[in-house]
Order: sequence, then structure tokens, then C-alpha cells
Amino acid sequence: MGTDIHMWVEVRERGRSAGDARVREAERRQDRAALDRLAPWGPWRLLLALPPWPCAWRRYHDDAEFTAEHGACPNCGGKGIVTGCYSERRYWLFGVLAGVRSDRYPPIANPRDWPQDMSDELRKVLDWDGAYESTHDGPYGNRVDGPGDHSASWLLVAEILDYVGRGGSTTHEGFVSSEVYAKWKAAGGGRPQEWCGGVGGAEIIDNAEADRRLSLPDPGRWYTLVEWTGGLREDMGAAFFDFLQAVLQAAGDPHAARLIFNFDS
Ligand SMILES: [Zn+2]
Repeated sequence: MGTDIHMWVEVRERGRSAGDARVREAERRQDRAALDRLAPWGPWRLLLALPPWPCAWRRYHDDAEFTAEHGACPNCGGKGIVTGCYSERRYWLFGVLAGVRSDRYPPIANPRDWPQDMSDELRKVLDWDGAYESTHDGPYGNRVDGPGDHSASWLLVAEILDYVGRGGSTTHEGFVSSEVYAKWKAAGGGRPQEWCGGVGGAEIIDNAEADRRLSLPDPGRWYTLVEWTGGLREDMGAAFFDFLQAVLQAAGDPHAARLIFNFDS
């Protein structure tokens, strides 16, 4: 079975004395240490809804045939926007956030467990022992996800942006079908249209043999292993950055927002 992420966002604000010139000066200089002293952070608060961001379940929105077969997108009801947290299954991202399911990139941090200073609202969510398959009966209904069961951690949005800012890329490999390989060659390589980690019961040939067969009138059906380079941002996925943007819109400052998450199975 697969692994899914369960995520919540907390935000905080600096306490400030209105009109304090020293605070304004520290803000102007972006002197974080002075700000921490003069206007320390207040307590974390759970965000029950984010500013609307594009639904991550692209398959439902980009593939009319798929939608015709499976109905409207269950994530957004076909509206195309959501106000909940990120929930897409993307193992490269899980690897970056917590070293879960993928080691293609080093994790930003190994799982830190739940934050000690979490909000009472979040504690209420995590104390709820309902099955994570159905969040409808959770403390906030279906607006807020219930917990998964392993690798709990949290990351400041600032930590994530720092990591992404340093860039990175990695080599991926996957098996592609004869049809996909033909398109992949024609496109000059890169990320294939679709691929899988293993193939059962089908003929597997190397790239040289694949190229030879593609030149035949009937190339036949087979699989071959291809490699491509993925960029960090692309591998983490556009949907995650759409979500982060909504978080930043709500919090204003990447140090004023954190993602708290764990995983199931
Ligand atoms: Zn949707």
C-alpha cells in the first residue's frame, strides 16, 4: 500500500508595542535577532483554512477522459481551488520533508516528532484517535485532516525556502513502455510522460535494442529502463509550491509559519 501525508499549518505573530521606533528600525534592517528581543513571537495558532489555492489533484482537472470515468474531483468537488493543507502523494517530496519513502534528496531535517510548543487546537487534532481514513468526525469536521501514524515532524516555511534556494538535482530512472519510449526519444529525453519502478510479465530490453526495434515497421511491445535528471523544485512538485504560496499569503513571513505533518503506512 502507499503512504500519504497528513499536514497542518500553524502561524504566529510578533508581539509589539505600537509605535516602538526600535521595532520599526529592526524591521527596516531586517535584524531578526533584534526583533526576537524587542518583539518576541507570540504562541502558535492552528490555521483552520488557507487562502484558496489551486487543487493539486491535477489528473482530475487535466484529463477529461479520467474525469468522465471517475467523476468530479473529490478533493475540490470540481471547483479547482481548495483551502485545506497539501495532501498529494508525492514520494520525492516526502523524502525532502522527512526522509520518508525516497532518498533521492537529503531530507531538510530528520523527523523531529511533534513540536513541544504546539497550539491547543493542534493538540486536539492529534489527540483525536479516529481513523485517518475519515476526518469527518474529527474535532474540526472535514476541514482539518486527522493524524497518520509515523514519522511526525515540523518545518518552518523559512527552512523549506532556504533548502529550495540552494537548488539541487538528481538522477531518476524508471521503466517505460515502447510507446512512451518512442515519444521520450522524439522529445530528446527528459522526464518521461509516465514510468514505473518495476515491470512484471513483460519483455524488458536495453536502450540500444529499443532503438533498433523502433526502426522496424512493427516495433512490438516491451519495456526499457530510462534515466533522466530532475530538478529539486520540479521533483517536489508545482502543487506543493502553490500550497506554500497560500501559507505565505496567510502568514506574511516565512518565519511566522510552520508545517506540521506525519504519514500513514
Ligand atoms: Zn480538484
